[in-house]
Amino acid sequence: MLRLSRQPGGQPEIFHSLQGEGATIGVATVFLRLSLCNLSCSWCDTKYTWDWENYDYKKEVMALDTEQVREKILSYECPHLVVTGGEPLLQQTELAPLISGLKQQGFYCEVETNGTIAPMPEMERDIDQWNVSPKLSTSDNRLERRLVPDTLESFSRIPNAYFKFVIVEPQDIEEVCGLAEKYRIPPQRIILLPEGRNPEVLQSRSGWVSEACVKHGFRFSTRLHILLWGDQRGR
Ligand code: SF4
Repeated sequence: MLRLSRQPGGQPEIFHSLQGEGATIGVATVFLRLSLCNLSCSWCDTKYTWDWENYDYKKEVMALDTEQVREKILSYECPHLVVTGGEPLLQQTELAPLISGLKQQGFYCEVETNGTIAPMPEMERDIDQWNVSPKLSTSDNRLERRLVPDTLESFSRIPNAYFKFVIVEPQDIEEVCGLAEKYRIPPQRIILLPEGRNPEVLQSRSGWVSEACVKHGFRFSTRLHILLWGDQRGR
């Protein structure tokens, strides 16, 4: 069984939209949002997937078997899947057969991960694109929780892994440069995006973040879904 996020109307959080950020920004996509996370970022915009002090687990989480999830994904007739969370790799044993089946049906599959859990070989084989988002000190997670050196090193060796950093303050850029050097991540696979849950905040950070991308040869990404729909769940 997979534990998924439940939308306020009671439906599983499997929805059809545009990829809002990163290397495939703007691509029509089916999203599968899984519950549970092993980190607790202060600015997390999906706390309903893991923060059981402030959200009700029974209300926010639903368990579905692989076949039910697969049927819902196929109903959109869109062969591009993004598995997000929470931290999807906490459930990779249950996720792997779903991904493998969808790959056989011609899907392009992306996984969003915080980069603290190494993928199983089946997942490494089947996933077309990893969106690895290591958390910086401004996320307020303890260092030993947010950065797992062996795992980061393995992701940096996977050619289809992009490193996506959420930038809150200018000091974050220095931290990104340090990680890029330490884990030998090519700048072309580093994407910076400004933190912001409304268009005004996003816009206020976009100028200096984009300048840093020009300076260091990183890629810049906005958060398209915030610009188009604001901080709306299921979009
Ligand atoms: S890793 Fe992602 S889902 Fe988990 S707390 Fe941080 S931002 Fe939220």
